[in-house]
Amino acid sequence: MEAAPPLFSFGVIADVQYADAEDGYDFSGCRRRYYRQSLALLQNAVEAWATERPPLSFVLQLGDSIDGLNARRGEAEGALAQVLAVLRRLPVPVHHAWGNHELYNFSRARLARSGLSSRPAGAAAGPPAADCRDCQAYHFSPAPRFRVVLLDAYDLSTLGREPDSPRYKEALRLLREKNPNDNLNNPAGLQEPQFVEFNGGFSQAQLDWFNEVLRLSDENQEKVVVTGHLPIHPDASDIVSLAWNYQEALSVIHSHQCVVCFLAGHMHDGGYFLDSHGVHHLTLEGVIETPSDSNAFGTIYVYKDKMILKGRGRISDRVMHF
Ligand code: ZN
Repeated sequence: MEAAPPLFSFGVIADVQYADAEDGYDFSGCRRRYYRQSLALLQNAVEAWATERPPLSFVLQLGDSIDGLNARRGEAEGALAQVLAVLRRLPVPVHHAWGNHELYNFSRARLARSGLSSRPAGAAAGPPAADCRDCQAYHFSPAPRFRVVLLDAYDLSTLGREPDSPRYKEALRLLREKNPNDNLNNPAGLQEPQFVEFNGGFSQAQLDWFNEVLRLSDENQEKVVVTGHLPIHPDASDIVSLAWNYQEALSVIHSHQCVVCFLAGHMHDGGYFLDSHGVHHLTLEGVIETPSDSNAFGTIYVYKDKMILKGRGRISDRVMHF
């Protein structure tokens, strides 16, 4: 660790996917998923974060906090309550991204009224996007000249929306156009393999809002950390796990100076890439595929010219210069 104290620090964790269920395997049948134990790993992370000195400013929960299994077992509300009870032991705010597994369990309307709705009410959320009122997209400034932007990677998705809503129909039309497979979760043969139902995309309204937020940050000479459930750079992900229109989000970022880092979850193996514009893309290893003698969380210490990630368990330490 550096001698000088950081400007601020925050915790990161992704893909807890808790369910009170026996261990299982991923869709390929080779990765073990430790559903029940993931809650204990979350607890370990919370205990470690709570002892940090100086204290953290906040924690980012990068989505998929409970598993889709809960919906089939009628245990969604109970599982969420358990995860939130663990997180409530933190003395700092938790910011939540929404992933596909939140949307397997809950409608957007329900999520907006749940403990996973961390968007501040009113003006604090920043310039509102006219058509993006129910997205979990907002920004905040944890320290002078720094900003964090949360993006909603399932704004454009069939998950969590009413089948008769215009957004649902728009998402389904786009998905079917790009994915002719019977099973819309199957990427076989696709030219753009990210067009599967377990991913989603950013609406134009959200991209316009994002562009405006970054324009203001440029103007105020801020450094910006952007985060969302889905990775947006192919070199920090596999080709299937990306946001549908990841190129559009990337081109918004690249048309501004201010963004230093993009944090994502969803791809349980994790990934990292420093792109040609100097943006660090960090995809965090998922808790759900982590055995009990390890873990997968980290603390990021932010300095004027760099961020230092101290990883635990499967997450490696890393220095990311601006
Ligand atoms: Zn996911």
